[in-house]
Amino acid sequence: MKICFITYGCKVNQAETQKWERLLTARGYISTNNPEEANLWIINTCAVTHKAEIQSRQIINKAIKLGKRAFVTGCYVELCKVKNSESLKVVSNFEKDNIINKFDYINRSESLKMSRHRAIIKIQDGCNQYCSYCIVPYLRGKPRSYNMEQIMKEIKYYESIGIKEVVLSGINIGLYGIDYENKINLNCLLKVILKETSGFRIRLSSIEVNHIDQEFLEIISDNRICKHLHIPLQHGSDRILNLMNRRYNALQFSQTIEKIFKLYPDISVGTDIMVGFPSETEDDFRKTLQLIEKTGFSYLHVFTYSKRPFTKASEMTEQIPENIKKQRSNYLIEVGKIKKLEYIKKFIGSELEVIIENKKNGFFSGTSDNYIKCFVDEKEVVAGNIFKVVINNTDGEYALGTLIKNR
Ligand code: SF4
Repeated sequence: MKICFITYGCKVNQAETQKWERLLTARGYISTNNPEEANLWIINTCAVTHKAEIQSRQIINKAIKLGKRAFVTGCYVELCKVKNSESLKVVSNFEKDNIINKFDYINRSESLKMSRHRAIIKIQDGCNQYCSYCIVPYLRGKPRSYNMEQIMKEIKYYESIGIKEVVLSGINIGLYGIDYENKINLNCLLKVILKETSGFRIRLSSIEVNHIDQEFLEIISDNRICKHLHIPLQHGSDRILNLMNRRYNALQFSQTIEKIFKLYPDISVGTDIMVGFPSETEDDFRKTLQLIEKTGFSYLHVFTYSKRPFTKASEMTEQIPENIKKQRSNYLIEVGKIKKLEYIKKFIGSELEVIIENKKNGFFSGTSDNYIKCFVDEKEVVAGNIFKVVINNTDGEYALGTLIKNR
């Protein structure tokens, strides 16, 4: 039985799919990247933006049209109330953690062959912050944290097979533990992981600025925690942040980032920015630009606002015309490229620890602890290992480096 795993959307969806793939492969199923040759598709859909919704709909329609057997789950399924059909089995977001129990037991003893270099671990699901543009709380439900023992079991498994990087992901990882009565939180989890494991580095997928406290800043001083934080800003105008129902203002955001840079001057801080939120004026947009200039981000993920069902923002009048959204988005994408390049250039002549991942255009590519994507001028390296790489140059998008030695 060959299964093709098809995933749209966030790191949480990626973490879920990766786990199903691992468990099903261990049971004897074969994973393939070729949808044509697969006997079964497992589709993990997304609906966070209008575009993601369209992609999800298209892949489901394709499965139906080709008569492929498919399991389909995820936020699009919740939003559009997708129904079972002859070839399509729908699994709700709230049942998806049990999706593999819907498969027949084949061969538990078959050994698992992992080809990945990075394991994405889901530590929680759901969110109750109700940002006014965001559909996620309606589709994923309230925050639910995974049991720490289960998380540690999964992490230790990855450690035992030699995975070199573990990414902790969730819909809002700063909410980890909020649903437990004892005072467990993300800081506790990080401390336990650092204490009980040793073989890999740890990356956090994304964390809200209001969840960063002094203890967290001390914990990330550990060398095993990647000096890379993704902290969504969304907007630089307090008026828009307020309308978005974000829980900070621009000053609070920049003060926290300043504190981070003071402690870790070389850290990579990336962010999400939304353009075209209802009523966004040129002046609001300028405030976003000013804050970006001031903050020293190493990259930007630019999102164009789209109306999502159930959300407060979708009912707001003063929706921004598409052409203006496009202009602002294009402008910010260019700003983001400059930021990324400036950040890479800072490391020319420096040594970085890079996990080699893929071979592209005859070169190996990999990612450093501070999230710089590098091409390495070396033919004979083993993918999946950490190497020391000296950065020589950049091609405008990637760093170009030379390998020093295996760790
Ligand atoms: Fe959505 Fe806001 Fe929760 Fe993030 S914090 S998942 S944007 S509601």
